Amino acid sequence: MEQDLSKVTPLVYESRIGVPYNWWAGQTASRFFETIAHDKKLAATKCDKCSKVFVPPRKTCPECFVDTNSWVSLSGEGTVVTFTVVTKKLAALGERNPPVIFALIRPKGADTAMLHILDNIAPEKVHTGLAVKPVFADNPKGHISDISHFEPV
Ligand SMILES: [Zn+2]
Repeated sequence: MEQDLSKVTPLVYESRIGVPYNWWAGQTASRFFETIAHDKKLAATKCDKCSKVFVPPRKTCPECFVDTNSWVSLSGEGTVVTFTVVTKKLAALGERNPPVIFALIRPKGADTAMLHILDNIAPEKVHTGLAVKPVFADNPKGHISDISHFEPV
């Protein structure tokens, strides 16, 4: 039997692959994660030249191009700079079910903001400028998830 493949519609299968990997956090990020895990605070770096405070900490000031050798401890309380609501189940959500709010949060005392999950508030109630605080995980692992999420103050 002769086959005319031009009349066959190719099928498309959707699948996923898992790619395990390791990355070297470096001294600056390691201090950030260890401070969250052990002190339940945010370790930020401060530029000695322009006085900007970076959280997550930066080893080098992106504006002055000098090493940031000063450290500042922040509680993590801050305000929502912007946010988005994820309504579709994504692998990045882990065990959380949508809707999940991702917020860019500027901690008090910082000149930058960090991305994290905002919880314990209805998506329609979230707004820029909302005062929030971190909720720390019970069993820290030296990972950003040691902050379980942020919630309204
Ligand atoms: Zn600077």
